[in-house]
Amino acid sequence: MTRFQHPLKLLLLSTSVGALGSGLGGGVELTLKNIAQALKHQGHQVTIVAPAHSVLEGVPLVTIAGNLQITAQTQGGDALITLPPNAVLGNMWAHARQVQHEYNLLINFAYDWLPFYLTPFFERPIAHLVSMGSLTDAMDQIIEQIAVGFPGTIAVHSRAQAETFQFADRCRNLQNGFDLSLYEFCAQPKRQLAWVGRIAPEKGLEDAVAAAQIVGIPLKIWGVIQDRVYWNQICADYPDAAIAYGGFLPTSELQQVLGQSQALLMTPRWVEAFGNVAIEALACGVPVIAYRRGGPAEIVRDGETGWLVEPDSVDGLVNAIAQLDRLDRQACRRQAEAEYSLEAMSDRLEAWFETILKKV
Ligand code: UDP
Repeated sequence: MTRFQHPLKLLLLSTSVGALGSGLGGGVELTLKNIAQALKHQGHQVTIVAPAHSVLEGVPLVTIAGNLQITAQTQGGDALITLPPNAVLGNMWAHARQVQHEYNLLINFAYDWLPFYLTPFFERPIAHLVSMGSLTDAMDQIIEQIAVGFPGTIAVHSRAQAETFQFADRCRNLQNGFDLSLYEFCAQPKRQLAWVGRIAPEKGLEDAVAAAQIVGIPLKIWGVIQDRVYWNQICADYPDAAIAYGGFLPTSELQQVLGQSQALLMTPRWVEAFGNVAIEALACGVPVIAYRRGGPAEIVRDGETGWLVEPDSVDGLVNAIAQLDRLDRQACRRQAEAEYSLEAMSDRLEAWFETILKKV
């Protein structure tokens, strides 16, 4: 059931670090797809603006040419605000400015300075879904400015993510939602562990590899290799670990192989804003062993749908793997259904839009 008498016209602006479908956008790609689907299901009209070469079926997509942004997580706290020449980010927002009057609300998915800075210059309201925690002073400042000047327009994916910012109490926690019909429950896993995500230092893959080497269980790895040097170093450091890299798979294939795993290991070094892969695993009946930090610590029910482990402790991971048989795979699927369905997400999204549109 929608809260709105008339369907809304919504313009969703994607991340500008990669085309949709490339994997470079990390969790934002699936989040955007899921949110578009949830809103469409509620009867709203959704259009997505994304970099050239983006692929997404079932939703009108406007693709925009231009050079991609550099990812924020690779820069230091005092990083300058940068745009390449002919920036796709600038081009996407120039398009948004031109068409804004055809929409009730614009929704920004980019963790970039420009859309926040532009907010007061637009005539239509802009809702910002912030996909990462605090990374640079410049971003903290501009997001706070909008959180104060446009109350209620900033949303995040977890409390832990909000708390990395000084203005945590001004952030709305939307968590996330998934089309659970796309994930098949698997009762009988193979003898394998899984690790899924962008292969980049903030994701801490080496700890999962170290743990897998100690317990002697094969570790299957899926995701885009974003940092090739980092990946080569891991392969060199753990020559005896039974690791197998499976590439970057579309959801339909990922869920099948992920589902056959005894557990998903989540070993981030940073405050993971949410961790989409945690829900994807739970939806397949796969328990999640995660460091007790960031989004995963708010998702995993310790001792029921996974184990929460002392951050950065490989021993902790090893102990948790030894206790996997105490967990019920059905309970994992049930948690995903109860908390992270598209229906639950639609409700949280509409409540957010309602507060923003009431203020206009
Ligand atoms: N993913 C995928 N295929 C793969 C590996 C990963 O589609 O082979 C997707 C996965 O579904 C998830 C995203 O990559 O949506 C990773 O997002 P997450 O929130 O876990 O981390 P982020 O990359 O945003 O830090």
